[in-house]
Amino acid sequence: AIRFDKVVKRFGDNVVLDQLDFTVRQGDRVTLIGPSGSGKTTILRLVMTLEEADDGYILIDGRPLTHESRDGKRVELKEKHKNEMRKRIGMVFQQFNLFPNMTVLENIIEAPVHVLRQSRAQAVARAHELLGMVGLPDKADAHPTQLSGGQQQRVAIARALAMDPEILLLDEVTSALDPEVVGEVLGILRDIAKNTDVTMLIVTHEMQFARDVSNRVLMFDGGRIVEEGSPEQIFTDPQERRTKDFLSAVL
Ligand code: ATP
Repeated sequence: AIRFDKVVKRFGDNVVLDQLDFTVRQGDRVTLIGPSGSGKTTILRLVMTLEEADDGYILIDGRPLTHESRDGKRVELKEKHKNEMRKRIGMVFQQFNLFPNMTVLENIIEAPVHVLRQSRAQAVARAHELLGMVGLPDKADAHPTQLSGGQQQRVAIARALAMDPEILLLDEVTSALDPEVVGEVLGILRDIAKNTDVTMLIVTHEMQFARDVSNRVLMFDGGRIVEEGSPEQIFTDPQERRTKDFLSAVL
């Protein structure tokens, strides 16, 4: 489970997250929706420890991610602890972020070999399995620049899964893709959702995908959750004005 406990995040005077509380259970697929600038990407970046909260705590299965409370004070945890926690989390970005100077295979085995200390043979075997799963069994030796955007994003998904993460963070993973390849990427994510119990936190503008894959939707605005519910509830019977306005603008 992921728990946000009164998390505050500011950029200068801009309070992006305002004492945010929420919990995501193991195996949940949660989609974050809300207007541009409502802090959705910031939430994923906090979980990935690419950003740190200014106040409050983030807990993964009850263990603090980067800070804990000691004698009522907020204390930063050691880098070693943060690295341990990071291993449990995978992220796929809008812009793929593959290492351009490495082959597809090298991209996928990099972290398993260097972070998890898997043997090269074991990591390579798993990489081939994952490439099969994302429909690219013959692209192991290609370089990212030789692949289409959709293929690069499928490699990025395989790379994230190679760490066998408990939590998969998906940040607008189809936004940079040509419309004709969006479906292939979403299809793979649907399969992963169906066949694994990885916890997913999803930021997307693809409302149909949110409906198909997630079991919970959180609507953000002004640094807080304004409404939450099942996709069915949120998309067909939203209660809050701000949710209705947001959905009528995007649907
Ligand atoms: P979008 O749907 O447009 O991606 P979002 O809900 O994901 O929006 P965030 O990207 O989390 O929103 O940004 C929330 C707010 O924080 C925005 O006002 C943004 O300008 C600001 N922000 C994000 N990152 C930084 C940064 N590194 N420095 C300064 N401000 C930032």
